[in-house]
Amino acid sequence: MASKYEPDSFERDIDHVFDHDIAVMIRSGYSQGKWPKDRFEWPKETILIVQSPEGTPKMYYNKPNELHAELLFQADLKADLEADLESDLDSANKSPESANKSPEYTCTLYINYSPCGDCADKIIQFIEKHDKVEFNIHFAKTFTDKTGRNKLKGNDRITLSPMDSSAWKKVTLLMLDYYIGKMQKSKPGEDADESLDIEGSDIQKLKKMENLKEKIQSIESGYEVLKKTVEDLGIDIKPDDWKEQREKADEYEKQDIKNSVNKL
Ligand SMILES: [Zn+2]
Repeated sequence: MASKYEPDSFERDIDHVFDHDIAVMIRSGYSQGKWPKDRFEWPKETILIVQSPEGTPKMYYNKPNELHAELLFQADLKADLEADLESDLDSANKSPESANKSPEYTCTLYINYSPCGDCADKIIQFIEKHDKVEFNIHFAKTFTDKTGRNKLKGNDRITLSPMDSSAWKKVTLLMLDYYIGKMQKSKPGEDADESLDIEGSDIQKLKKMENLKEKIQSIESGYEVLKKTVEDLGIDIKPDDWKEQREKADEYEKQDIKNSVNKL
């Protein structure tokens, strides 16, 4: 399968598919904090996947000159919280014992670049307004400007961690769930008139993803999960030693966040 993200594709509207998104996650900053000679080694886009308390994964992408993925996610979360609050108030009217329930949310986010300074400010404002919301943020690479990461580091309702082996396994499974769910919805069902077009090749892709999901669940190491994913789906990731580079880069990020000063 051809790689979907040749350098010039960053300038166009990207057709997001699993292969593309997982490749962007893997490739983000695996040159240990340094900008590589070929600048296109580093994806120029942000991908955010969130595991909401309801369990259904959601994906957000930034677009050049538009809102950052983190802010798109926050707008959605705000709407969800307000809807929950309303339904809680409704049930509180019916059963007074639930009157004190306000929504408690722990959001686990996986993002290829840590939030920028501006997004960090908005995340902190959000946390301050919603006192039962907690964020666990896993990132593959610190954004070039470390201000945002260092601001978030000090908040007691925000956990900020560079991706590790278990995070890589989790993010791969979440992305698979997201895309499997999306494709299953467009599969021809009983209401054939209402179903979207899904071609034979897409049904093949869906089967491949479902098989892969089953296989990787029993693999313990997240890096082995990535390797299996890349091999199984024929995802084109250069250079050949990406897996070792990814592991080294994650180790680098771990040390870097340990050494960073909390600048609030
Ligand atoms: Zn941002």
